[in-house]
Parts: sequence; structure tokens; C-alpha cells
Amino acid sequence: MPIAQIALDVPLDTLFEYTAVGAQAEDVGRLALVPFGRGRRVGVIVGFAETPTVEAGRLKPVTRVLRELPALPADILELARFCAGYYHHPLGQVLATLLPQRLRRMPPARAEEPVWRLSSAGRAVEPSSLPQRAVRRRRLLATLKERGELSAGAVRAVFPGAGRVMQEFLALGWVERGTATPRVEAPAAPYPLETPPVLNPDQEAAVAAVCAAGEGFSAWLLLGVTGSGKTEVYSRLIAHTLAKGRQSLVLVPEINLTPQTEARFRRRFPQASIISLHSQLAEGERLKRWRLAQEAKADIVLGTRLAVFTPLPRLGLIVVDEEHDISFKQQEGLRYSARDLAVYRARQRGVPMVLGSATPSLESWHNACLNRYHLLRLPRRAVEGARPPRLGLIDIRREALTEGLSARLILALKERLRRGEQSLLFLNRRGFAPVLHCSACGWLAGCPRCAVKLVVHLADRRLRCHHCGHEEAIPRHCPDCGALELNPLGQGTQRVEQALRRLLPEARLLRIDRDSTRRRAALPDMLEKVAAGEVDILLGTQMLTKGHDFPRLTLVGILNADGGLYSADFRASERLFAQLLQVAGRAGRASADGEVLIQTSLPGHPLFAALAQGDYEAFATTLAAEREALHLPPFSFQAWLRAEAHSMEAVMAFLRAARACARPEGVTLYDPVPAPLARKAGKARAQLLVEADSRSALQAFLGPWLVSLNALRARQVRWALDVDPVEP
Ligand code: ADP
Ligand code: ZN
Ligand code: ZN
Repeated sequence: MPIAQIALDVPLDTLFEYTAVGAQAEDVGRLALVPFGRGRRVGVIVGFAETPTVEAGRLKPVTRVLRELPALPADILELARFCAGYYHHPLGQVLATLLPQRLRRMPPARAEEPVWRLSSAGRAVEPSSLPQRAVRRRRLLATLKERGELSAGAVRAVFPGAGRVMQEFLALGWVERGTATPRVEAPAAPYPLETPPVLNPDQEAAVAAVCAAGEGFSAWLLLGVTGSGKTEVYSRLIAHTLAKGRQSLVLVPEINLTPQTEARFRRRFPQASIISLHSQLAEGERLKRWRLAQEAKADIVLGTRLAVFTPLPRLGLIVVDEEHDISFKQQEGLRYSARDLAVYRARQRGVPMVLGSATPSLESWHNACLNRYHLLRLPRRAVEGARPPRLGLIDIRREALTEGLSARLILALKERLRRGEQSLLFLNRRGFAPVLHCSACGWLAGCPRCAVKLVVHLADRRLRCHHCGHEEAIPRHCPDCGALELNPLGQGTQRVEQALRRLLPEARLLRIDRDSTRRRAALPDMLEKVAAGEVDILLGTQMLTKGHDFPRLTLVGILNADGGLYSADFRASERLFAQLLQVAGRAGRASADGEVLIQTSLPGHPLFAALAQGDYEAFATTLAAEREALHLPPFSFQAWLRAEAHSMEAVMAFLRAARACARPEGVTLYDPVPAPLARKAGKARAQLLVEADSRSALQAFLGPWLVSLNALRARQVRWALDVDPVEP
């Protein structure tokens, strides 16, 4: 009798064995319902064995192989195994991460949504032939004719009680039960066909190079300044892929980028079926789109990091846009890098892949230097006449600021107002002020659960923690000394907004941050207003920095650039450079000349000189030399052992034990240290760094170490390995 090895979503690095009567080799990758503990669970069959590892008599049988549900294709299963091994995460939990939730829930999902459809008898009935007063029956029949099929939910939506009328139709033999036909939905808005522009020579060369490489794995780093037309290059490559009847996978960093990019692709490829996959989809919708991809009914799959796991039987191209973005790395659970997995997948499937960015990650840049990736450059803006913006530094040590705004910046805003041009102000801090301060005793309002200060939100008079969600009313007096004088210190977007309304009352102002865009369609609505020229000054956080094209924008003001220059994170300057170049790129996208003004107290910092030149390569070269000297990634390989518990003593004790049980061969283990956020949501947090000269040395160490760590049985401590971390 075959023994099925089943991966279950439990935090144990083991497979579970069940006897499986009638199961066959083809069932690998299928979902199965199995008894587990006192209940049942849905797991994935990952293999079969001849002999069990435990006494055969103790094995329970698989309850049912769920053959009606889509199975995981072999390549995705293999990708999952790779992930489990590389990130040291249980296979069952890797599979749980990458499968649509609907598929692994109890009770098992039904294959398809049940629907009502007209029978041939029903199709012969004309709604107008029904009696005049049978309004509801006419309506339901007409809706069925129009839509072809209706789910139970759709039936209820026609009018309340439509379900009963449907039962009457069933009795009359007008309708029958069926299952929904998966279908690519026609886009809600009609997308006018976009005529592709004539490529400029750089774009031409890039497209030609990738096409000339032909089939098979090849990796390309498309280094193109903002506005250089990288998307156009992707589009051409996708067109080639489509022409060969193959699927393209396009990964983008942020959820708020998908509608724009999706619209762009729809305009370009009106005949293609395009689906987007992101974390905000309802479960059912996610499953539906996943199946469309798996059944090769989707030609272009556009998605955020999780989309890297989408089954694509006819995969022909992978694109990772804004490849440097840290949102490609998942920060909890399975801590995978979608960018790195995209490279793995492209190699696994033997397809070309393009990583695009104006400021590639130093890892990718290094790979290009080593010729692992072929470098493609788009050094110029694509639109005729568009020039890189001028950069001005404002030394805030010598300027009096009004609510964080220098006189020179205010003057520049006024000038844009007069000329009818748009400005963008960038401040990466939402809320009114970053902290509430008692001037009598120096008390600062802190989060009771985290080691951070509470942010003042004046609009609704609350103090909020941006890390754990704790909130409270702004106190009337100081809880320490009772003084009534409590002052918000520093600036958040809300405070700058208030100041601007006072300073420039005639300006039409729009604030874009997480607070102002909570409502579902808020951001698209706002961006539309900006595009329509109904906004003079845009003020916002990093939500504003990427993707959006604002042709009338000629001034970008950066209110405080210094945070990234003081940080303890060795990647901070890389990030700051990317972010500033990204925001700066918003200015003068079209023909109007752009200007970028940066307020800083360190105007002499070399980062600004490189920024003024707009020279990523010079900056990357300097940065790489620094990292090499300090033996930091990409010149070394790291993993954090991150742990948290109720007390710092418990966390530290665990980490010390972890260090003691390690056999560091070919790796360096550092002392445990408190995490940068040493307390979060009531938990003490600390971590331990492992560093190696090579990926293989790191991996060779982590495997056996993990076994020892599991043997420590630290029940009070939650811990996880973070391989190739992108954050300290
Ligand atoms: P990136 O993604 O590199 O920031 P985009 O692809 O958004 O740049 O292109 C910037 C602008 O230039 C877009 O408005 C795009 O339509 C336009 N564009 C791109 N390629 C060309 C071209 N060859 N000729 C004219 N305009 C172009
Ligand atoms: Zn006080
Ligand atoms: Zn908190």
C-alpha cells in the first residue's frame, strides 16, 4: 500500500505519513484531506514512500484525495522545496504561504462556484412572453439571458427573494445547476488602444539584446533613469512573448502601483488576458485568478511579491520592476525575497528575466559587475526635451524654518503657483508631529507596548503608535508632573499641511499619506485630481515617490533628508539615495524644467553630490568599495536569528544558548543584540547575526544549527531565521 507524504501547515519541519489506497504517482501536488489530531486538515501530497518511517500499523488513511481541486504543478512544488531549504522554513508552511487560502481551508473548497444557467427550454422562453404583472420573473429571466450564468450571490443581488423565483424556474425546467466557467473578465473601463512610440536607440538596443539572446535563461539588469521608458522596454518584450503564445510574469513592488501599471498594459494589449494578483484580493477572486494563470488562460500576470509563486505552464518571460524595492522581501513567516526567487524561477524554467530600476540594489549591481546579469542602460529620459531636474541644497543649519519649511522653499512654491505649475513636497512622516513633549519636565509620550514614541494625530486628537496600533487620547496634562503645557515636537504631514494652508491660502493642497488614503478608492481619485490639474501642491510620504506620472510637476521639495544619513543600518544610504532619486524623478517628467530642493543639515555629504550628478553608477561604485572594505553584503552573506519573548532576559538567554550550541565552521557568529525596535507590541526582541564568505558556507552552517535550535525547546521564545535580510 502506498504511503503518502503530506505537508501540513504546522510549525514543524516534518512531513506526515498516511496510507493512501488508490493514490497514484500523478497525485503528487494534489491536495488531500487527512485526519490530524482530533480534527481534519487539508494538506499537499508531496511524495510517496514504499516503507513508512514509523510502525505501519500506526498510520491512518488519507480521508480523501481532493482530485476536483487544481493540483500544484511540479515546478511550483520544486520551487517550494527550494524555499523550504534555503529559507529554512517548514515545507508545509511554505506551501501554505503560496497556495490561495481558499484551497487549503477547512472544509475543503469546492472546485468551482455553483451557478444557475438557462436550460435549452429556458432559453426558448422570452421574458416578454411572461404575464405583464410577473415583474420579478421577467427581471430574473432577462438577467439570466444577459449574463449567461448567475452565482447564488448574484441571484440574491438581482432582488431579495430571487432565490425562490429561481426554484420555480428549476421546477419549470427553465434552469439547471452548473459550475462557473472561469473567465477573464473584460476590463471595467474601456481601454483605448495605445500606439507604441518609436523606440529611442537605447531602448532599441535593450530590446534587441534580450530578443537576440533567444530562448533559455538569461538575466538582464535594466538600469534606466526615471522616465527613461523602462516600461516601454518591458512592453516590447511582453509583446514578443505574447507572439510566441507564452505567458509573462511582471512583479511590481506596491499594491498602489498595480492599477496604474495594469491600465497601461491593458491599453497596450487589448487582446491579451491580463490578471493582477495582490494581497488585497478577496479569497475567491484570488483563487479564480490563480486558476486562470494555471490553466494558461492568462497571458500577462501582474502582481506583488506573492505572485512569484503563480503557476504558469507557458511561462516565457519574467520582469521585476523597481527590483531594489524592499517590499519584495517578506518580513515575517516565510522570509523570502521575491526578486531572488524570480531569478531562481527563470533559471528553473529556462526563460529570460529582466530586473529594472533607476537605482538597482547593490546586490544586483554587483551581479551585473560580475557579469552574472547583463547590464542594459537607458541613460536618458524618453520624452523629447525632458531634462533631468536641477538640484539645490538648502542648509537648514543656517535658515530659520517655519514649521519645517525654509524661506527658499516657500518662495519656490510661490513661484510655481504663479506660473500655474505643480509642486510636490516629500516628508516621510505621517501624522501631525512625531512626538508629544512636556516642556516643564521633559516627558515624552511613549508607546506602552513598544520602545518608540507615540505620534500626535491632531485631527482626531489621538496619540498613535505606528508600530503596534496602540492609540489613546491626547492627555490634557503631563502624566509625570501635571503641567498643562504639552507641545507636539517636529513635523508630520498634517502639521506641514496646516502650515501651508496658512502660508499659501490660495494654493489647492492635497495631502497623500496612509491616513488620507484609507478609503478604498481614495488614492486613484486623488491621483486623478492631480492629473487633471486640480491640485497645486501635493504633500505626502513615500506613497508619492514612485510610479505616478505627473507631467505638470516642476518642483520637488524634500523636507528632511537627514534621517537616512544618521542611521545604524548599513543600507540606509543606499535606500536614501534610491528614494531621493525616485522623488526627484517626479519633477519635470514632461518638457517643463524641473527643480529639486533638498533641506538638510549635512549639505556636504557625498551622497548629495552623486545625487546632483544623477549618477547612480558612481554612487554604486563608491558604495560597493565601502561594503567590500567592511566585508558587508553583497561581499558577505548574512542571516539573522530573530527572537522575541515577554522579557529581554528570556530572549537573550535563548540567543546565548543558540550561540553556544552552534558549530561555527566557515561562519562568524556575533553577540546577541537587542533589535533596533527592542520592544514591539509588548514583546522584547533581540537578534544574533551570522555572517559567511559564501552562500554555501552560510547554508552549510544553518541546516545543522536549526536542528540544534529546535532541540533547545525554547517554548517561551518565538524565533525565526531571516536569510539574506534586508533590514537590521
Ligand atoms: P520609466 O518606467 O523608466 O520611469 P516610463 O516607461 O514610465 O519610464 O516612460 C516615461 C514616459 O516616456 C512615459 O510617458 C512614456 O510613455 C514615454 N516614453 C517611453 N518611451 C518613449 C519613446 N520611445 N518615445 C516617446 N515617449 C516615450
Ligand atoms: Zn511634565
Ligand atoms: Zn506600539
